[in-house]
Amino acid sequence: VSALWCELAWLGGDAPDAGVLVQIEGGRIAAVQAGADAPPDAERLGGLTIPGLANAHSHAFQRALRGRTHAGTGSFWTWREQMYALAQTLDPASYLPLARATFAEMALAGITVVGEFHYLHRDGNAMGEAVIQAAAEAGVRLTLLDACYLRGGLDSFRDAGAGAWAARVGQLRDGPELRIGAAIHSVRAVDAASARVVGEWAQAHGAPLHAHVSEQPAENEACLEENGFTPTITLAEAGVVSPSFTAVHATHLTDTDVTLLGFARVCLCPTTERDLADGIGPAQQLRAAGAALCVGTDSQAVIDLFEEARAIELDERLATGVRGNHSAASLLEAATAGGYESLGWPGGGRIAEGAPADLVTIGLDGVALAGTRAQDAVGAVVFAGGPRDVRHVMAAGRWIVRDGAHMSIDVARELQAVIAP
Ligand SMILES: [Zn+2]
Repeated sequence: VSALWCELAWLGGDAPDAGVLVQIEGGRIAAVQAGADAPPDAERLGGLTIPGLANAHSHAFQRALRGRTHAGTGSFWTWREQMYALAQTLDPASYLPLARATFAEMALAGITVVGEFHYLHRDGNAMGEAVIQAAAEAGVRLTLLDACYLRGGLDSFRDAGAGAWAARVGQLRDGPELRIGAAIHSVRAVDAASARVVGEWAQAHGAPLHAHVSEQPAENEACLEENGFTPTITLAEAGVVSPSFTAVHATHLTDTDVTLLGFARVCLCPTTERDLADGIGPAQQLRAAGAALCVGTDSQAVIDLFEEARAIELDERLATGVRGNHSAASLLEAATAGGYESLGWPGGGRIAEGAPADLVTIGLDGVALAGTRAQDAVGAVVFAGGPRDVRHVMAAGRWIVRDGAHMSIDVARELQAVIAP
């Protein structure tokens, strides 16, 4: 058993608790006590300690596009051509160091679990195994959301059919810090009958299931033409919309879509949705309908879950002229517990007995947050914090970041070496 004493810790709610003693045993939180004095054998953590952040939607390889596409005038569809060109160059040997450095950048940003939405298939599961190794070396928990991709895209993305997809994914096994999940790339890439097969596989395996849904109006139009329904209704008709289903983006929805997704989860990726001019998803209506929200860095335009979380509220303010639809605590919950649950780690993303020992300590004495009062710390971190304020990160009871540095990876050097050698 090891003990951490947190000057301030977020245990849920609008304000943090002071003097929180967290006991850790076997990679899990064994006990939590607020208002405790620091025992002499406990490690003292200044600042605000929060649960580890969950990046519920990532395409790790797209980190190599950062800065190369964002200033352009092209559309989502021209961006996609640049993404395909990059994807074509990657093999397991080159993908491993790119994914490892990207996951290590995530660790520095306080991310302790990643949902990698994986469609870069090549040589069976070789690319997926590179992702698994990369996450293990970076020290982060992984849910490999292996995507069924049957039409469009590149040859290497595609399985021969949903049955072939299931046979391939069935060869991958969960590990202590690894979950194998399922994904339907989109209704563009997977027909309704095949989507049903993937949904049934996920249900039979108790695996989380994700899909890109209604990111662009053109996707809705094509789906209406093919299926006579919106993407959400098409997926619901195929039986895949359930509490273990996460719709990614869910930007362009009808009222019926919102109602249906109220039974499921929605992952918003606002920095990518901004970058690609996708639009602003109806987060407030989705929450009112019952949907649990989470967030993802998606295209890695930036890796900053604080920005993703506050963007849910701030983008909506711009669109509606109304403030305060989402509290800081609800935004932080989306970035923590909401993501853990979406990725198949129920009970994670909380500082609570029995939860995985995944923790992030944020310094309140850096330039961005200096002057923060204890009672305002949750709001300050959500609305003004960033990766630069992340001091220490623990995943599964092990420190992966100390004093702002990764424990085993020189992250900037590895990113440079792998992206622009
Ligand atoms: Zn995506």
